[in-house]
Amino acid sequence: MTEIMTLQNVSVHFPVRGALPFLRKGEIQAVSDVSLSIHRGEIFGIVGESGCGKTTLASAMVGMIKPTAGQVLFEGVDLNRLPRDEFKKMRRRMQMIFQDPFSSLNPRFNVYQIVSEPMLIRGEDDEETMKARVVELLELVGLSSQDLYRYPSDFSGGQRQRLGIARAISLNPSFLVCDEPVSALDVSIHAQILNLLLELQEKLNLTYVFISHNLADVKKMCDHLAVMYLGKVMEAGNSDKIFANPMHPYTQALIAAILDIDFSEEREIIVLPGDTPSPINPPSGCRFWQRCPKAMRGCREVPPEYVEVEPDHFVACHLVNGFPDQELPEGYDQPMVPREKVPGR
Ligand code: SF4
Repeated sequence: MTEIMTLQNVSVHFPVRGALPFLRKGEIQAVSDVSLSIHRGEIFGIVGESGCGKTTLASAMVGMIKPTAGQVLFEGVDLNRLPRDEFKKMRRRMQMIFQDPFSSLNPRFNVYQIVSEPMLIRGEDDEETMKARVVELLELVGLSSQDLYRYPSDFSGGQRQRLGIARAISLNPSFLVCDEPVSALDVSIHAQILNLLLELQEKLNLTYVFISHNLADVKKMCDHLAVMYLGKVMEAGNSDKIFANPMHPYTQALIAAILDIDFSEEREIIVLPGDTPSPINPPSGCRFWQRCPKAMRGCREVPPEYVEVEPDHFVACHLVNGFPDQELPEGYDQPMVPREKVPGR
């Protein structure tokens, strides 16, 4: 499979301004030094708690945010070095499906106006052609031509998300970011929308980035995944390998928290203490050390390297990769006592 999207050492930092606009108080390190590849025709999951940088990373992929450092290559082309016209053309091939279908649809537009808007912006002006295309798209997502002149408020949450999907695929994109596409929906509709996304992916040969904090959905949907914590990738690779053998303590905690009804195997519940620290002043060393149940003293000072531990499986953890050969703090491999791990230190 060829790579459709490659991120090379991508960081996205946002300045935090003081009371006066020219006074800079610091920066939010939303994404730090992320490198990964997404292959054509696959579903790539990005998981992690709220605020871990999932959406910022995906926004950088589709050119909605310019990275502070690093490169975003779409089909081998650096998006952020393209001339404006070329960038716009490329951008049409990448679309997003948003979490809240209601707020992402203009309530004053009817279905025809909502779905045909991207075509109009592209320069299409033949009403009959647009109408035929809108009807085709509606049928593709499980709506019908009778819905053409209805408004978003006439639909249920699931139908609105179908509408959002119809609009997202109206320009025949090849790369689609699905940002928590089912988290605002009822459980019964949830599975229908996931199945629709799977059907469309196969029919239209789409590549998805599937952002979710729900590991059960990611397990069902994704071929590859990246687990993010505080702007960094902790573990990434083949989804089956990660679910079968999670190596990073954070991934282990997330997987242990999946809610399902399979009680056949005993499972250990891992409760992570404290909250995610602030991305304005992230912890030194491993960003997860304050909450890690297996943290060692050296984790506080030495950042772990991101290493391929088996084919198609990468982990950033000293427990798995060992400490690098350098001057290390005294007792570096001794477990940190809980008193030392006060979140916010
Ligand atoms: Fe935990 Fe240390 Fe591994 Fe970070 S590097 S996840 S603190 S064991």
